[in-house]
Amino acid sequence: MHDIFSEEQKYFQKIYEVCEDIANFYQFQKIETPILEETELFSRGIGISTDIVGKQMFSLRTKGGDYLTLRPEGTAPVVRAFIEQGMHNLPQPVKLWYFGPYFRYERPQAGRYRQFWQLGFEVFGEESPVVDAQIIQIFYNILREIRLKKLIIEINSIGDSQCRPYYKKLLVSYFRSREGALCADCRRRLRENPLRILDCKEEKCQRIISQAPQMIDHLCESCHSHFKEVLEFLDGLELPYHLNPYLVRGLDYYTKTVFEIYEESPEGRALGALAGGGRYDPLIKLLGGKDTPGCGCAAGVERIVAEMKREGIKFKKEKEPEIFLAQLGNLAKRRSLRLLEDFRAAKIQVAESFGRDSLKAQLAKADKLGVKYTLILGQQEALEGTIIVKDMALGRQETIKIEKTVREMEKRLKSR
Ligand code: AMP
Repeated sequence: MHDIFSEEQKYFQKIYEVCEDIANFYQFQKIETPILEETELFSRGIGISTDIVGKQMFSLRTKGGDYLTLRPEGTAPVVRAFIEQGMHNLPQPVKLWYFGPYFRYERPQAGRYRQFWQLGFEVFGEESPVVDAQIIQIFYNILREIRLKKLIIEINSIGDSQCRPYYKKLLVSYFRSREGALCADCRRRLRENPLRILDCKEEKCQRIISQAPQMIDHLCESCHSHFKEVLEFLDGLELPYHLNPYLVRGLDYYTKTVFEIYEESPEGRALGALAGGGRYDPLIKLLGGKDTPGCGCAAGVERIVAEMKREGIKFKKEKEPEIFLAQLGNLAKRRSLRLLEDFRAAKIQVAESFGRDSLKAQLAKADKLGVKYTLILGQQEALEGTIIVKDMALGRQETIKIEKTVREMEKRLKSR
């Protein structure tokens, strides 16, 4: 788990702003769900035999005896909200987006945190393949807008309840006859979740996987035409994709389209997927809602930040204050506090160091900040209702009436 501050905070902010803009354009509403949910939401939604539920959840039992879990992903909570808030009564599709912290008990390793941030977009109530393509387009746009350039979309279809059971049988019988050559994890997966064998990274498993039957050859009519249409839409949008018959993704709830987005470089690949998502038509019903199709995607904010840093992406410098307000003595300090508020109301940024009493120290700070003007309010000025304006470049100074300060500074900053 890590703190996010200073430079890191700027990257987070930038990513948030890009998402917000894009969400507004495509008319997604923001949703924030609680960080804690009932454990059952995830064990039912994501699936008992997945790594996330099996090994990676931070769970606790409350004094009242409830089993709760720190959310490990965003889709199941948003689906829970969709059902609980009766969103099926709204005009469909319902489009929601989110940005927040998620928790997984990961082994310590590069690019994996136990508290990490995700941004996600979900569309409910629309089964057309055009939505799958739009979700992909949205994530592609977010990453492009952040100025990541060499993006590649990996895509696959994992079928549905019509065609997947038969394919699973084929797969199990293929792997069973080669069980002895699989790694220990895959032998376990063979019993619990055979599809997951396909994304095992062990070399000895990879050799066997490369000859395995592929889902794409066994899709039913409706999954086949859905997938074909998704790809045609991607072609129409000129999005760069790559068919990956071994892409299955870690969560049980997916049907039909699944995809991941990577930065296309050895370092980018090593970092893992920047974003991943797909269609999850059965999930809403599975979690107790009306039968409603869904499709969505989530991206890891830390991974995007790591990629931005690696690519040397920098930000425009923030606007620095051009005025410093220095004060001397108690009455002047009181007046300065008020004056600062007048500047704020006029939306003019002013730096100060009210905690310091020495004028020399304050002027040194003004110098360091490189402001254009320093305002000096001393004992005598405070009594007379005046203030000194010092032009830092010219070294010239003059005294003006205090009540004219804001208007005068506004004029001077504009004329420069
Ligand atoms: P997933 O829900 O596993 O598909 O994750 C979606 C995205 O979240 C991934 O593509 C990563 O970018 C990011 N992600 C997942 N787990 C972690 C983690 N432990 N630490 C940092 N980022 C993560």
